[in-house]
Amino acid sequence: MKCARGGSFSKGELQRFGNIELSPSAGVLNYGQGLFEGLKAYRKKDGNILLFRPQENALRLNIGAERMCMPSPTVAQFVEAVKATVLANKRWVPPPGKGSLYIRPLLMGSGAVLGLAPAPEYTFLIYVSPVGNYFKEGVTPINLVIEHELHRATPGGTGGVKTIGNYAAVLKAQSAAKAKGYSDVLYLDCVHKKYLEEVSSCNIFVVKDNVISTPAIQGTILPGITRKSIIDVARSQGFQVEERLVAVDELLEADEVFCTGTAVVVSPVGSITHKGRRVSYGEGGFGAVSQQLYTVLTRLQMGLIEDKMNWTAELN
Ligand code: PMP
Repeated sequence: MKCARGGSFSKGELQRFGNIELSPSAGVLNYGQGLFEGLKAYRKKDGNILLFRPQENALRLNIGAERMCMPSPTVAQFVEAVKATVLANKRWVPPPGKGSLYIRPLLMGSGAVLGLAPAPEYTFLIYVSPVGNYFKEGVTPINLVIEHELHRATPGGTGGVKTIGNYAAVLKAQSAAKAKGYSDVLYLDCVHKKYLEEVSSCNIFVVKDNVISTPAIQGTILPGITRKSIIDVARSQGFQVEERLVAVDELLEADEVFCTGTAVVVSPVGSITHKGRRVSYGEGGFGAVSQQLYTVLTRLQMGLIEDKMNWTAELN
């Protein structure tokens, strides 16, 4: 779908996957005016396909578009476009238990602009790719390292929206961490340098005495849809969940740490290294709390238990 600045998106069309044409002076290429989303479609045992909370992605894109001076498709347009794209690609949705179809909506300033300004024209597109289960052979906890020099987000910046530049900002720290054998980087707030923020592409939770805590959303953390869902699932399972400032020192005392995101779903954290000191959690798998939450969420997403929250949208 395309639209002019200040305009609204008209109905789009399905096209074969392939290269797209952009002016060298497109806003997205020169000034990073771009946002994306990520969600998954799962195949049920009866062959139908389930989307997980697509309206939430649409709302997050709307909020991001406002921050990035872009028009955005309406929630209804977004959901309809996601459904149409998935249905057109339904043969690529893996069989039950064998993975999912990852859906990548992308909104960008595609019009040409030379001086710094919002682009005059915008393109919204969606592409999809089948992905395997995050854990291919049993659960492998992730090992994080806390980054002290480089930050992914600053107060007043764009860390709270899913803009492409946030991901460029993490490449250096993430590559360095991976080269040293870590799975990913855990960021601290850049003002006090002592409160947990998030990982490069997932949110973080800390469990102590069955109380689950996660950093509050304050503009520098992406409001993850999995995060929000896990908070609701945990409360519905009787857990106390606190959204607050979580100090790095609390990691020393934690019983369990886990991450949430569309890609990782719920992943146990096996260790966190902070200033050269490594703190380990669990015995090579999920802790009791993250195991319970993982089981409920994945069953819901795959249509294996009743969807009392009305989170899934079924396609056939
Ligand atoms: N934080 C960041 C920076 C992310 O890129 C993601 C992935 N979208 C998340 C958190 C988790 O968000 P969600 O649960 O919506 O995938």
